[in-house]
Amino acid sequence: MNPRTGILGGTFDPIHVGHLALAAAARRALQLDRLLVLPSHTPPHRTAGPSASVWHRFAMAAIAVADAEGCEVSDLELEAGGFSYTWRTLERLRASGLAAEGLYFLTGADAFADIATWKHYPEVLDQAHFAVVSRPGQPASALRGRLPDLAARMIDMDPAGGTLPGEPSGRTSIFLIDAATPDVSATAIRQRAASGQTLTGLVTPGVEAHIQRHRLYTAEAGRAGRPAGRLHD
Ligand code: ATP
Ligand code: MG
Repeated sequence: MNPRTGILGGTFDPIHVGHLALAAAARRALQLDRLLVLPSHTPPHRTAGPSASVWHRFAMAAIAVADAEGCEVSDLELEAGGFSYTWRTLERLRASGLAAEGLYFLTGADAFADIATWKHYPEVLDQAHFAVVSRPGQPASALRGRLPDLAARMIDMDPAGGTLPGEPSGRTSIFLIDAATPDVSATAIRQRAASGQTLTGLVTPGVEAHIQRHRLYTAEAGRAGRPAGRLHD
């Protein structure tokens, strides 16, 4: 059987225990062989850009999964630059030889609820399976009612990892996984860091140390080693 690759995209500003729980839940439920963590360059659906630079966001993602077996951090979206459309990313992964049947794009239920606004919807859904994991207060199973046009493609998965459904060739599915993930968001973490509160338990110890060392999310964010004035006009 071909390897099953999970793809976890996100701004990761910073990567936190909710992201790791999302990935772990999808890996367990769908028996994924490996995980690609893909920090986005510029997320298309946000009015404000990321707070930390692409380099710091990539570094934190790499630190967070350094000891996780079968995990790689990909610079694909950072190399590509510009808006990080999932459609374009999946095109590139498929061009590199990965078949849609072996690709599982992971999202939280909040992100997937907006799928109709994604570039090249609904074609984007044919480029990979989608694995949608609940977020606190947002069960994945509720998406059937919110997105009735897609209900026929949705398959409930046992979060403990049951039998995988047979895959009809040429058709990708939307797997719904209701698993407990921590009530954590990057927005709340940035606010805590800005007001000097501890991040222990919300991010991995290595990521917490990285945020502290580089003073990310504080008023003087990431200014270490830079002169006070502007470097360039
Ligand atoms: P922000 O607050 O800046 O929006 P975030 O915590 O929502 O950050 P994102 O980078 O926006 O993180 O999310 C990347 C992916 O991870 C999305 O698919 C999102 O739904 C999912 N996700 C984030 N936090 C959780 C969580 N606690 N449980 C499950 N999924 C999550
Ligand atoms: Mg978010």
